[in-house]
Amino acid sequence: MSDIVTVEKFDEMNLKDKLLRGIYGYGFEKPSTIQQKSILPLIMGKDLIAQAQSGSGKTGAFCIGALEKIDININNVQVIILSHTKELARQTHNVFNELGDFLNIKTALVIGGINIDESKKILQKGVHAIIGTPGRILHMLNDKCFNIKKMKILIIDEADELLSSGFEEQLKNIIEILDNNI
Ligand code: AMP
Repeated sequence: MSDIVTVEKFDEMNLKDKLLRGIYGYGFEKPSTIQQKSILPLIMGKDLIAQAQSGSGKTGAFCIGALEKIDININNVQVIILSHTKELARQTHNVFNELGDFLNIKTALVIGGINIDESKKILQKGVHAIIGTPGRILHMLNDKCFNIKKMKILIIDEADELLSSGFEEQLKNIIEILDNNI
């Protein structure tokens, strides 16, 4: 952990101006501790396991890291965020869109309960990021509803909960599909 650099200001993270505007517009002034330590490694493409108490700003951390990595000119999925509940996926989708408000990011919420054909239509038009639950995302991957050649980052939110909620097999399948196609 000692080689992890701490960056105490959003301005010093070399983020896109439009992302910075989104961050300040959302009301964040200073990065929380987990954000100070994890955003840069995420942007640098390092494999990262981040652990912190709830309410410490983890969602902001991985959303900002993922948003910085997205190339808006590429109309393909570059980020997938897995949540273990539909509600968590919805909340994360909202935060992601709010922080990315000025970037013209296209996102899809892919969760059970949403009409499958509707989800497929949105994905086939092209989105930059997918936020959702493992079962439905795996379904979309198996049906080849979106192109994964430009995938940059897979985020597993609350991974401990996700694994203990019976999603282990689906997670393995998702990782295998992504690994085989990138
Ligand atoms: P989380 O741990 O990601 O669920 O975030 C907990 C709460 O902290 C949410 O209400 C966030 O909007 C808020 N929050 C996260 N990061 C910051 C920040 N850098 N400055 C102020 N509030 C934040």
